[in-house]
Amino acid sequence: MVVATGKSIVKGIAITKIRVLKEPDRRIDESLHEDTDAQVKRFQDAVAKVIDQQNELYERAKETAGEKNAEIFEVHAMMLEDEDLIDDTEEIIREQKRSAEYAVRESFTAQAKVFEEMDDAYLSARSADIYDLENAVLDVLLGIDSDSFALDEPFILVADDLAPSETVKLDKNLLQGIVTRGGSQTSHTAILARSMNVPALIQVKDISDSWDGKTAIVDGYQSCIYVDPTPETMEMMMERREADRKEQALLQDLIGKESRTVDGTAVRIYANIGGPADLPAVKENDAEGVGLFRSEFVYLNGDQSPTEEEQFQAYKSALEALAPKQVVIRTCDIGADKQVDYLNLDPEDNPALGFRAIRICLTRKEFFKTQLRALLRASAYGNLAIMFPMITSLKELMAAKEILEECRTELKNEGQEMGNLEIGIMIETPAAALIADDLARQCDFFSIGTNDLTQYTLAIDRQNAHLEPFLDTHHPAVLREIKMAVDAAHRHGIWCGICGELGADLDLTETFLRMGIDELSVNPKSVLPLRKQVRGIDLSLPQEEQEEDFR
Ligand code: PEP
Ligand code: MG
Repeated sequence: MVVATGKSIVKGIAITKIRVLKEPDRRIDESLHEDTDAQVKRFQDAVAKVIDQQNELYERAKETAGEKNAEIFEVHAMMLEDEDLIDDTEEIIREQKRSAEYAVRESFTAQAKVFEEMDDAYLSARSADIYDLENAVLDVLLGIDSDSFALDEPFILVADDLAPSETVKLDKNLLQGIVTRGGSQTSHTAILARSMNVPALIQVKDISDSWDGKTAIVDGYQSCIYVDPTPETMEMMMERREADRKEQALLQDLIGKESRTVDGTAVRIYANIGGPADLPAVKENDAEGVGLFRSEFVYLNGDQSPTEEEQFQAYKSALEALAPKQVVIRTCDIGADKQVDYLNLDPEDNPALGFRAIRICLTRKEFFKTQLRALLRASAYGNLAIMFPMITSLKELMAAKEILEECRTELKNEGQEMGNLEIGIMIETPAAALIADDLARQCDFFSIGTNDLTQYTLAIDRQNAHLEPFLDTHHPAVLREIKMAVDAAHRHGIWCGICGELGADLDLTETFLRMGIDELSVNPKSVLPLRKQVRGIDLSLPQEEQEEDFR
């Protein structure tokens, strides 16, 4: 048995086989080849094979994801028949006497760059498809089994790290646990692991490719993974898993009960979601609404910007499923660690301080309007609130509201139905906390994003695992900013909630309630434990364990 330790981000026990996610080694033979006919034939055979693969994928995806989503594979097959691309590749083989792999890399990359530089957003997004096809052809040439991660049985995922776009593509029905070498507590990968509710460890330095296929236990309580566990460990962990199940069953008693303290103070407990797929968890855990719908995950799912209609359907399904409960949908928070190729954002030295969220939306007005129109149309189907992320100034809030009004007028003229809605902002920058009074006059609610608020206040990159020794999640500066935001909100008669990860920190629940917080929005799994905590608090008594003085 091998035991490796890390940091636990989701408690619980997972027992099953490991699958290691490896970036394949696509090193290329750069030597000269006299037998150019043989290399051309290898290239032609590889292309034919990839066309077959794409056609197969098209048929498979048509069954599981519908015709529209499957179309991309048809387009891929057509792209591989492009004469220019074929001629360019064969020319490199014949004239430069290079291997098929070398020629594919040169010609496909060159064509992808041409697309990348096109002004038309749709065409420039096609560069990502060419890179995908380049890898697919190289995989055939190099004998890499690119389909090896298409799994059909439960697995614990082991990887160096995961990008949010990779995480959203995992089969949530089969994924039992996540173990990564990198990662940090408030990275979006960690947040997704929480929302998927599987035991997860980050910063496990000793992961190994040789674990692939082995049976393992992820112990989210002791922050470790046992690979090839001994029968004794297996028995002990199975007992622990059973105890977990019983505890979960006890929490079920809180379904339908009020989130109210002993002295009668009520707080709304909402859930955070990434899309309609999380709605069953919202219901199962009896959340009183959705306090943060991270709409950008709708954007991360595809390889082109979702249309107004696609977005409308996603928002409408959430609103209808939960009506009359409130659903707070945050406008697109792309940028920083959440990148999509089709936006063609320039690489930045400091992406977390860069072109992200509301900054992208205010700059690319048509892109923003597509989302706002979809939201306004969806508002007819439930209790919607729209929330703008990363606000640092009153000017940004006013500009966002102006574009929203423009969309409202357009839709009215088109005769579209719309419902009432609240407009709020995230308080996730120190600037917003400091000017909270000015902002509160212009919106209906605040929701505090403690993940970014902590990152920007303490100057600690939330993606950088090495900085965790310096991270004090209960830092008085952050707690003071939260109090400032709550007080400012109440001075102006609006409500204030928390939707960052700190909202689920049971050690701070009493502190937040004493500040007067109106709503806590947490991952669905934390709703019932939080309700239990709230129901045990008596605000008429002095706070027993005072948090560090933050006033
Ligand atoms: C936050 O910053 O606390 C937040 C809720 O937004 P995200 O984690 O998606 O950046
Ligand atoms: Mg944030």
